[in-house]
Amino acid sequence: MKLVNFHTHLPLSNNQTGLINHPVQLDFLPKPGQYYSAGLHPWDIPDEGSNELLKQLARLANHSQVLAIGECGLDRSIETPIDLQQAIFAQQIELAEKLHKPLIIHAVRTYSDLLQLKKSSRSTVPWILHGYSGNAETTRQLIKQGFFFSFGAALLKSQTKLNQSLLLVPSDRLFFETDESTVNIESIYIFAASLFGKTVNELQSTVFENFQRIIKR
Ligand SMILES: [Zn+2]
Repeated sequence: MKLVNFHTHLPLSNNQTGLINHPVQLDFLPKPGQYYSAGLHPWDIPDEGSNELLKQLARLANHSQVLAIGECGLDRSIETPIDLQQAIFAQQIELAEKLHKPLIIHAVRTYSDLLQLKKSSRSTVPWILHGYSGNAETTRQLIKQGFFFSFGAALLKSQTKLNQSLLLVPSDRLFFETDESTVNIESIYIFAASLFGKTVNELQSTVFENFQRIIKR
């Protein structure tokens, strides 16, 4: 059984599986045996318009090694107008839906936007909040709306708030990731397993099953 590193910007080692993030504006040079997610990140929305990039994404998303759409999403900490971000995100939701591929979501101060969006959306693919950092109340609401959660290195900073959120997440909606950090994914599993009072092996196999179930090869 491989160790799942759900979302990373770095190559995965042989004992790991997961999705390597591919920003659509870069050349796609897939390595054999590796899997990717491809998307247009809200930070990368160009001033001159996103039509070309979205077309490129629609082509790339069919690639057999691209197994999810993202990271894409909404970020209220940047200057790009939120309605523009929403329009571009909506197109990526549609693409994910059309191809039956899950969505990997970047969210900064936009969990309530996402709750509304998912409530009113007819999307049926899994929506995974990567680098999750919401509080317990937000987590409860997101769980009710069917979201999946991927926790990263922030967990290791021993934020009580985030630890509480982690413990609320149903085991079949859970992932771990390193994202851009060089932290070992192993250390995140060890920390989380101790919080759950599970063995590291149990937690690893739970997450592996989740990965197999929602990420279709
Ligand atoms: Zn990322």
